[in-house]
Amino acid sequence: MADSADVAAAEGPPPPVLNGTPVAISDNVYVIPDGRVPLVPNIGIVLGSRNALVVDTAMGPRNGAKVRELAQELAGDRPLLVTITHFHPEHGFGAQAFLPGATIVYNRTQLEEFRQKGAGYLEMFRTFGDAVAEELEGVELVEPHVVYDGEAEIELGGRTAQLRTWGLAHTRSDQVVFLPEERILFAGDLVESRCFAIFPYFPPEDADVDGDRWIAVLEELERLEPAIVVPGHGEVGDAGVITTAREYLVELRSETRRLAAEGLGVDAVVEELDGAMRRRHPDWVQAEWIGFGVRCFHAALTGSTG
Ligand SMILES: [Zn+2]
Repeated sequence: MADSADVAAAEGPPPPVLNGTPVAISDNVYVIPDGRVPLVPNIGIVLGSRNALVVDTAMGPRNGAKVRELAQELAGDRPLLVTITHFHPEHGFGAQAFLPGATIVYNRTQLEEFRQKGAGYLEMFRTFGDAVAEELEGVELVEPHVVYDGEAEIELGGRTAQLRTWGLAHTRSDQVVFLPEERILFAGDLVESRCFAIFPYFPPEDADVDGDRWIAVLEELERLEPAIVVPGHGEVGDAGVITTAREYLVELRSETRRLAAEGLGVDAVVEELDGAMRRRHPDWVQAEWIGFGVRCFHAALTGSTG
């Protein structure tokens, strides 16, 4: 007789539908938790006296509409600003649901990366199964109203949100949102909680992920000394979430280097570390990304892109 775990495995992952409701993590700062549903991100809603800022939209017009409705309930008649942590579909491809009415803000590199890769990622995600394709039905690739370079401060009324671009790490244009008064950090996919680092390393189509720079970015995020960290996926935590994410990347890099120096080919290194990392982090999800991470670090060693 099949037990419940077998049944769940046979049924595959739950559909990428946002089911959470906003949880206050500070005064007038909310997170709609991902509920650990794959391809659903954590969403931030920050209320000022004049405006409300939404961080990420979730994927597709229906999820986007749900986020807008929940944000609008909290914001009342305060106009909405929307920003996206990076161009990946599950974070920003619900933006159309905020139009008309909201003002969408991107960093310039993110807009460039979105223009270059958005349509390709949409096609790729449509191959991830019927449930994903269904949420992507009717997606329109929406461009921002406001674009900034490097850093921007948004005055929401009685509180400031700092937007900062980090350049190439998880993508070419990762952005975090930092609330300096409460020291709250929305980290996007630079940081995950109980989830292996997502390496979208798909050469030759997309090799814009850099493990060395990613580690350096995480060191800088730790220096911000955030009190609360909202990861792209997984539970909200404190600065320790960043440290754990960095230590994993550092270990993956050093082990990749060590095994490569012993003469193992890249496939053998992947096999070895996939097993080792799964054993080390038995309660983490998305172990399929371990191998992509190894290949990325290995390519940096050899200077190849394959
Ligand atoms: Zn991502």
